Amino acid sequence: MKKIVQIIKSFTLWELLIGMKLTGRYLFAKKVTLQFPEEKTPYSPRFRGLHALRRYPNGEERCIACKLCEAVCPALAITIEAEPREDGSRRTTRYDIDLFKCIYCGFCEESCPVDSIVETNMSLYHFENRGENIMTKPMLLAIGDKYEKEIAESKRADAPYR
Ligand code: SF4
Ligand code: SF4
Repeated sequence: MKKIVQIIKSFTLWELLIGMKLTGRYLFAKKVTLQFPEEKTPYSPRFRGLHALRRYPNGEERCIACKLCEAVCPALAITIEAEPREDGSRRTTRYDIDLFKCIYCGFCEESCPVDSIVETNMSLYHFENRGENIMTKPMLLAIGDKYEKEIAESKRADAPYR
């Protein structure tokens, strides 16, 4: 009897039918594949991607050159130089982040008392030339200016959990 069942299964391609049943089930199921890069998965508001320096709405830099982020950075990726302005306020003259050293731990963002240095949800970037791994202050400010709306939205979404 076992032999007959085996022969019938061989002639009806039973294993193939079982496989096709599984294929058929997923053929009409909701698709989870995304057409990257046109489509992207949602990012958490706490996603730690490329850094940015933010400004206040009046255009003034938020950073007060307290150097907490530099001190807390476990990878020694941040280099800050600062001096007082004519009005007595203290501002950075140099703010570099070495992205080759950075481990994207987020400590710099956590330590900043004025929400100046943040990590954006930008994860798609690359370097083509030597030295491009150093993000300078103008570059960080430019990213902050460009993505301020998204950064503020992420901060707002995360605020209830802090
Ligand atoms: S994310 Fe971490 S490693 Fe990178 S610069 Fe900030 S503190 Fe340093
Ligand atoms: S980014 Fe924030 S923590 Fe770092 S020096 Fe400026 S104010 Fe201080």
